[in-house]
Amino acid sequence: MPKTKHGAARRDRCTSEYTTWVAMKERCLNPKNPRYPNYGARGITVCDRWKQSFEMFFADMGKRPSRRHSIDRRNNDGIYDPANCRWATPKQQRRNQRNFRQDLTGKRFGRLVVIKRIRYDKQGHTQIWKCICDCGHKCEARAGNLSTNHTQSCGCLNLEKIRDRNTNRTRKT
Ligand SMILES: [Zn+2]
Repeated sequence: MPKTKHGAARRDRCTSEYTTWVAMKERCLNPKNPRYPNYGARGITVCDRWKQSFEMFFADMGKRPSRRHSIDRRNNDGIYDPANCRWATPKQQRRNQRNFRQDLTGKRFGRLVVIKRIRYDKQGHTQIWKCICDCGHKCEARAGNLSTNHTQSCGCLNLEKIRDRNTNRTRKT
């Protein structure tokens, strides 16, 4: 990277965030990019806000804390958006990936107990697990969504929440 005498450090930091933003859009949005099969083709995209402007991306992510940090998605099946992304060191990212790659058989997440793994891609990015819900229904869930508590039932939990809200509303009136 070319160095300038004046304000070089500051400019380098800005450059690295911009490079991150460009590379992220490339692997998610450009089918000709060599990394697209692992990103865009898997449905890993970039939120509209970040797609549109580097300024928004920079406002949400802030400065890269150090040269060792790179952009990391907490949920590996999730998209690039402010809720799912952070700057992380390689060590932090490995820890995160281990959580998503582990064997979940027999584990409980909310109302779900994991029965077996159904699909597992080569990179270990997407794992689909067969689960049984306390209500008796069987369903499929992504490992990332289980680990982050995004999926806690076959869908019955959300239905009950909606029903409860409606019941409370009728009770009040
Ligand atoms: Zn259920």
